[in-house]
Amino acid sequence: MSYTEEVYERVVAQNPGEPEFHQAVKEVLDSLKVVIDRNEEKYRSLSILERLVEPERIISFRVPWVDDNGTVQVNKGYRVQFNSAIGPYKGGLRFHPTVNQSILKFLGFEQVFKNSLTGLPIGGGKGGSNFNPKGKSDREVMAFCQSFMTELCKYIGADTDVPAGDIGVGGREIGYLFGQYKRVRDLYEGVLTGKGLTYGGSLIRTEATGYGVVYILNELMKDHNDSLNGKTVVVTGSGNVAIYAVQKATQLGAKVVAMCDSNGYIYDPNGINLDVVKDIKEVKRGRIKEYADRVEGATYTEGVGIWNIKCDVYLPCATQNELDVDGVKTLVANGCKYIVEGANMPTTREATECAMDNGILFLPGKAANAGGVATSALEMSQNSQRLSWTSEEVDAKLHQIMVDIYAKISDAAKRYDLTDNYVAGANIAGFEKVVDAMIAQGIV
Ligand code: NDP
Repeated sequence: MSYTEEVYERVVAQNPGEPEFHQAVKEVLDSLKVVIDRNEEKYRSLSILERLVEPERIISFRVPWVDDNGTVQVNKGYRVQFNSAIGPYKGGLRFHPTVNQSILKFLGFEQVFKNSLTGLPIGGGKGGSNFNPKGKSDREVMAFCQSFMTELCKYIGADTDVPAGDIGVGGREIGYLFGQYKRVRDLYEGVLTGKGLTYGGSLIRTEATGYGVVYILNELMKDHNDSLNGKTVVVTGSGNVAIYAVQKATQLGAKVVAMCDSNGYIYDPNGINLDVVKDIKEVKRGRIKEYADRVEGATYTEGVGIWNIKCDVYLPCATQNELDVDGVKTLVANGCKYIVEGANMPTTREATECAMDNGILFLPGKAANAGGVATSALEMSQNSQRLSWTSEEVDAKLHQIMVDIYAKISDAAKRYDLTDNYVAGANIAGFEKVVDAMIAQGIV
C-alpha cells in the first residue's frame, strides 16, 4: 500500500463519523501521490503526512446565551487550529445549524493549502458554531456573539489566530465579535478580518472572494484563448461570494442568468439585476423567490436543479457538495465549458472527476476562492501598519494574487505531466510551500 493510502486509512480509522473531513483528505492525498512517490522515504521518515492531517489543536466549548423569551440556549463553539507552519492560523467562522467538527476540520484542512497558495504568511484554521442566525433578532445575535467570543478570545490574537467571516458570519457578527474581544482582552488589534471600514476593515474585503473567483476564471479563459465577453453564466447561492462574482462577471461582459438560495432558484434570461438581489439579500435578508415577483420576465423554481439552466460557465458559490454527478452530466450535455468553485468543496468528488473527464476546465475552491482570505491578509497588513489602502490599491493586489495563483497551479500541474488538472495543481503547489516550512521547523 502506498504511503498516501496508508495515511488515508489511518485518518478514516482514527476520525470516525467525519465524512467531510475524510473526503477533503482523500482528494488532497490522491493528488499528492505523484509528489510523495518521488521522495517517499524522506516524507515517511518525517511522518509529514501524519502531521499534515492532524490539526495542531482543536478548541471546543459551550456557548450559553439568553434568547428574547428569556430562555437560556446552549450552542457548541469550535476553533480548529490546523497548521501554523507559514503564519498565524487564519480562516473563517461559520454559524450554521450543520456545523460540526467534521465540517470544520475539512474546512480547516482545505484552508492550509488555500492560504499557502496566496503567497502570504498565513497558516490554516477554521471555526464556528451550530448557532443559526436566521430568524434571530439583532439582540439575540449580539448575545450569542458576545458569549462565543468570551471563550474564544483566550485562544486567538493578531499574531496567533485571526478568524474572519464565513456562512452566517458577515459584517454584523464580526462587529459584535470584535467589540467583545476588545472589551475582554483590552486590546485594539487586528484579531478579526472582515471588519467595518470605521474600525480597521479593508476596502474590497466584502467583494474580494467573488471578484477573485472571476479574476482567476479570466486567467483560465485567457490561457485557453477564450474570454468572458458574451458568455452565459450561472452562479449558485445569493450570499457574499455569489453576489460579487455576479458583479465582476457582469462587468467583464458576461450575462449571469441564474442564482439561488437553499429554497430554490431564479432564472432571468435578460441577465440578473444585481441591485434587486442586493436589496433582497443584503438589506431585507429575504428569500431569492422575491426576485421573480419584482423583475419582469424572471421565473422562480422551488427546490434544487439550477444546473439544468444552459450556460457556458457554472460558478457554484453556495455550500459544500451542492453539485453532484447528475448535475455535472446535465451541464456537460448543455455545453458548459468551465466550472469554477466559489464555495468550499461545492462539487462532490465523483462530480469533479466527471467534469474533468468530460473536458470541462475545472478550478477548485482552494485556488478559486482564495481571494477572500488573501484580502483578509491584506487587512492584517494594513492593521499592523496602522494604515488604510485605497480600493484601487487593494483591488490591484487582489488581482495580482489571483493571477499568481493561476500561474502557480497551472505550473505545478505541468511539472507533473498533469496539464489542465488544476485540482492536482492546487494541492501540489499548496503542499510544497507548507511542507518546506514544516521540515525546516523540525518535529513540532
Ligand atoms: P453566505 O452565507 O453569504 O451565502 C451562502 C449562500 O448559499 C446563501 O444564498 C444560501 O442560501 C446558499 N445556500 C446555502 N446552502 C445551500 C444549499 N444547500 N443549496 C443552495 N443554496 C444554498 O456565505 P458566503 O457567500 O460567504 O459563502 C459561500 C461559500 O463560499 C461557503 O462554502 C464558504 O465557505 C465559501 N467561502 C466564503 C468566503 C467569503 O469570503 N465569504 C471565502 C472563501 C470561501 P440561504 O440563505 O437559503 O441559506
